[in-house]
Amino acid sequence: MFPKIITKPKLSIVVPCYNEQDVLEMTTTHLVELINDLIKKEIISEESFILFIDDGSKDQTWNMIKSYSEKITYVTGLKLAKNAGHQNALLAGLIHVIDRVDCAVSIDADLQDDPNVIHEFLNKFTKGFDIVYGVRKSREKDTYFKRTTAKSFYKLMIKMGVNIIDDHADFRLMSNRALKDLKEFQEVNLFLRGLIPLIGYKSTKVYYHRHERVAGESKYPLKKMLAFSLDGITSFSITPIRLVTVTGLAFSIFSLLAGLYAITSKFLGNTVSGWTSIILSVWFIGGIQLMSLGLIGEYIGKIYKETKRRPRYFIEEETKIK
Ligand code: UDP
Ligand code: MG
Repeated sequence: MFPKIITKPKLSIVVPCYNEQDVLEMTTTHLVELINDLIKKEIISEESFILFIDDGSKDQTWNMIKSYSEKITYVTGLKLAKNAGHQNALLAGLIHVIDRVDCAVSIDADLQDDPNVIHEFLNKFTKGFDIVYGVRKSREKDTYFKRTTAKSFYKLMIKMGVNIIDDHADFRLMSNRALKDLKEFQEVNLFLRGLIPLIGYKSTKVYYHRHERVAGESKYPLKKMLAFSLDGITSFSITPIRLVTVTGLAFSIFSLLAGLYAITSKFLGNTVSGWTSIILSVWFIGGIQLMSLGLIGEYIGKIYKETKRRPRYFIEEETKIK
């Protein structure tokens, strides 16, 4: 079945927010202007709206969302009962708009991703693309540290066999049917960037420049970033487990050779007890073993979480429904 081409789609811009009181006003102004403009140009339907998801913020974020929602036609809000993390908050928003829209664009609250390219996303959508990925053209505005760690993260993910789009974060457009399919993925360890390419359909990329965060601070410090990448890899790839097996195999072969060497030395009569080599190998093997155990534990941990089928988030409150 061919998707029917929608000319003036109803759009929702889905924005997860965690302690974003410093940027929310600017973001709202900018996005409302954008929606107004797109409506005026007859690109989207007048029923389009912005959905802010408050991910259990501890600051004024929810109060601000509520008051904007009362004052501005296009603003709606959803409050999660507690902090569920960026990926879960975003998913909550995307699932929330299913069957209320023709397409949804997800974007971070800090507008580091250029909202002006949403226009281009929509062009692609009306040409029949179900998923449009926003891809960063350059990262010179990110700090050197963020840039290099992120680059190595994408490289590592791709090496590990995870099907992700290089330099694409969570700035994308999805059609309603793609959103419905996304809902079918039941996993608790959520890594949307890895899941969405699994949906399929006609998809394309749009390139844009990424800006600096204008206010507030990154909610992804190094610790969270490392956890996020480890989650990404272990949720999608079994290569690390295979590496453990291969390392184990290599060590077995090596110890066989070492054993042969030891026996020959014994027969040749020069068995000098080598404390250094023993102590070194004890440490080394011990280290490898611990690392492998940890890695296997990582997967068992995931199985443990998945088998519980715990809900990923709870919705506490909602402003007007569009
Ligand atoms: N965010 C969220 N829940 C969290 C952490 C972050 O909803 O627990 C939101 C945050 O408000 C922002 C987006 O996720 O809209 C991305 O966060 P941030 O800009 O801090 O990440 P970075 O751009 O530094 O990777
Ligand atoms: Mg950001």
